[in-house]
Amino acid sequence: MPSARGPEAMLARLVAFPTVSTESNLDLVAFVEAHLAGLGVATTRVPDATGEKAGIFARVGPDVPGGVVLSGHTDVVPVTGQAWSTDPFELTGRDGRLHGRGTCDMKGFLACALEAVPEMLAADLKRPVWLAFSRDEEIGCIGAPPLIEAMLAAGPRPGAVIVGEPSEMRVVTGQKGSWGFRARFTGHEVHSSLMHTGVSAVMESAGMIDAMAAMMRESAAATDPNHFEPPHATVHVGLISGGTANNITARECIFSGEVRTLPWDDPATWRERIEAEAARREAAARAVHPAATFRFETRMELPGFIADPAAETLARALTGDNGQTVVSYQTEAGHFQAAGLPTVICGPGSIAQAHQPDEFISVDQLAEGAAFVRRLIRHLEH
Ligand SMILES: [Zn+2]
Repeated sequence: MPSARGPEAMLARLVAFPTVSTESNLDLVAFVEAHLAGLGVATTRVPDATGEKAGIFARVGPDVPGGVVLSGHTDVVPVTGQAWSTDPFELTGRDGRLHGRGTCDMKGFLACALEAVPEMLAADLKRPVWLAFSRDEEIGCIGAPPLIEAMLAAGPRPGAVIVGEPSEMRVVTGQKGSWGFRARFTGHEVHSSLMHTGVSAVMESAGMIDAMAAMMRESAAATDPNHFEPPHATVHVGLISGGTANNITARECIFSGEVRTLPWDDPATWRERIEAEAARREAAARAVHPAATFRFETRMELPGFIADPAAETLARALTGDNGQTVVSYQTEAGHFQAAGLPTVICGPGSIAQAHQPDEFISVDQLAEGAAFVRRLIRHLEH
């Protein structure tokens, strides 16, 4: 470790908790509770249904409306199968970079927020800072809605939310929505020499995937220019499995993936269109054999997001960034905005390093994140 002080020291503590989304995050939550309790700050846990995970929130400063929420997630993606040159759960400094799972996505921002709590307490805050640390963000942002609900029930309404996902401290004003799906085609097994009497789930699924790719191309051609990259909805199948032998029509094929939509397009529209196409194909397959079924199930549906001007203005004032930045990755911003809270995305580190082996945040970015929180504290003194 190059330094044992400031946000780096806090980041080292947070990285040491292996809070992969499949595992409990309660050790980290207990650490945050104890740390804030030591500073005299009360916290509220928002457990999940299993009791194995929890979100946590706290208010620092006066019990009045108009505060600012610093939002982040406690979970990280797995390291399984990745070639790490350092221990992913031990913060390792090297060449101005701090390596470790979650350093940029997004324990760096949590560290900046936590480390600044003594300064928040010493400041003459006219409006509070809220810390809102969620669970299960990486598996579809499912921890945010109950956390937001509990926070809104607990106190006066905040005036803005800053979701500290890695943006290199740029003000992110838009995010694509998404629909995550899992499809299962059930066909009918026959010897492949008699395939006209069977229904191959593999070949039917391939046809459907091709139709979905065609929908993407059509939509792309019809989309007006905008700031997103790519500037259109995307349809992606990332996993597929099916069949038992080269000479048997497959009885089953399962595939999954996601559609990412422009924020002004409802992901539900895509879902309905794809489900209608699946129903047409199911009917055609049933004419060959009545056992055929084709089902899409929703893994998650996340609204897109266009920043509220109130939150955007605040983040621009704090960063000085007046650029146009929009992103295609998922964040909890849409959930906060859907709850009526003006929201913007702005945090340290680069999304290019998120989820990667040897994930890192640069020492400079971490310092910028810490300076951002300090400027927010000064802002809330007035
Ligand atoms: Zn993240």
